Amino acid sequence: MDYKNDIKYRKETLKKLLFNIQKSEDLIVKALYDDFKKPEFEAVLTETNYVISELKTTIKNINTWTKPQRVFPSLLNFPSTDYIYKEPYGDVLVIAPWNYPFQLALCPLISAVAAGNRVVLKPSELTPHTSAIIAKIIEKSFHINHVEVVQGGVEISEKLLAKRWDYIFFTGSVTVGKIVAKAAAEHLTPVTLELGGKNPCVIDETANLRLAAKRIIWGKFINAGQTCIAPDYILVQKNMKINFITYLIEEIILAYGKKIQDSPDYARIINAKNWVRLTDMISPEKVFFGGESDAADLYIAPTLVDEPELNSKIMSEEIFGPVLPILSYDSEEDIDRIISKYEKPLAFYIFSENDSFSQKMISRYSFGGGCINDTVIHFSNKRLPFGGVGYSGIGAYHGKLSFDIFSHHKSIVKKANWLDLPMRYAPYKDKLKNIRKLLDWI
Ligand code: NAD
Repeated sequence: MDYKNDIKYRKETLKKLLFNIQKSEDLIVKALYDDFKKPEFEAVLTETNYVISELKTTIKNINTWTKPQRVFPSLLNFPSTDYIYKEPYGDVLVIAPWNYPFQLALCPLISAVAAGNRVVLKPSELTPHTSAIIAKIIEKSFHINHVEVVQGGVEISEKLLAKRWDYIFFTGSVTVGKIVAKAAAEHLTPVTLELGGKNPCVIDETANLRLAAKRIIWGKFINAGQTCIAPDYILVQKNMKINFITYLIEEIILAYGKKIQDSPDYARIINAKNWVRLTDMISPEKVFFGGESDAADLYIAPTLVDEPELNSKIMSEEIFGPVLPILSYDSEEDIDRIISKYEKPLAFYIFSENDSFSQKMISRYSFGGGCINDTVIHFSNKRLPFGGVGYSGIGAYHGKLSFDIFSHHKSIVKKANWLDLPMRYAPYKDKLKNIRKLLDWI
């Protein structure tokens, strides 16, 4: 078992993992349903299928990605050939959240293994069915000294963080992200922190309102709003608000029917604590659609909230649930006043047919990533880096970038011996003049 140096071994274990995931797909989908009634369609699209696709891409490309990459040499070093070697960091800790408990645990794990690391994964304690099946699959696919799943809650996480790691990959809240960063600082361990934030969704007067409503309802209420890149609040141009709200309501009913609690396509809130947190955010007098909830079923209806105060609970923290505040604006100053109140978000959405407005929004605000005229889908392109900025995270991953972040990039210049230019050696005398000329020229 030489996972550090034997690329064939890494590839074989990843193939085994692929086989075991494909074989257990139904059980994974069932576990996700048992944890919080994640609809089958969403479980396949955003969890199992996503991971299978990531695995296939990694297996296909691992040989190319691991090869030393030749780069153009500097003329100052002539004659040389220059390379970047990808070296595994060593021991990697992956800590995962509950909202996409399979995908967000497995994707970093796959890349960390591909890059030649030993991995310890701590999945979320809030999705016990999914975490148990993850543990089983990993046990079947890897030697325990190569990849290990450690199940448990905060205490176990704290114990793991107290150890020395060569890389930590954390997905979760900003509060815990700071705890992870502090623990990592103790040993100068590099980290990726995939965190959250309040994601704005701006709709100007040129937007295709009907389509905007459809795409926002999908992106907001998939996984019952428990998505780190779900739109957190809407900023709609004042004159468009009434029409837009009508479309939003129509789209909710088209997607989930009139008896939403009976819809097989609508997930539940993860636990009682989050159910209470979310229902506490809803002021009934501000609700113009939804608002119904059922503690026994951990259900909260898709809820639209009209113009909440900026200092209200719902506008003070990341919502992370099926509640959508609608705020209207008159001018760009209004937009600026609201967006600038918050830390840099993980995602930002603009619905507009006016390209200069969209470009202005993109350059004015700092955020992880986003879409023009859609929501959430930037996540699905493996060629786009996915990650936050400021409070929404440090670093980014997906596709080849995931392999790269789990590798130390070692620079090597291989100098040829057939020529040894004398310019750099002492005594320097008047060599500086010639060096300056050369530097000007290259
Ligand atoms: P969380 O931070 O509460 O928990 C995440 C993980 O950290 C869990 O495994 C948990 O056991 C562990 N943990 C919790 N408290 C800890 C502590 N005090 N010390 C050490 N470890 C601890 O997050 P969550 O509730 O599971 O997920 C929701 C949050 O995650 C939201 O803020 C959401 O935006 C964010 N998120 C971000 C992304 C992303 O890709 N950027 C994806 C999903 C979720």
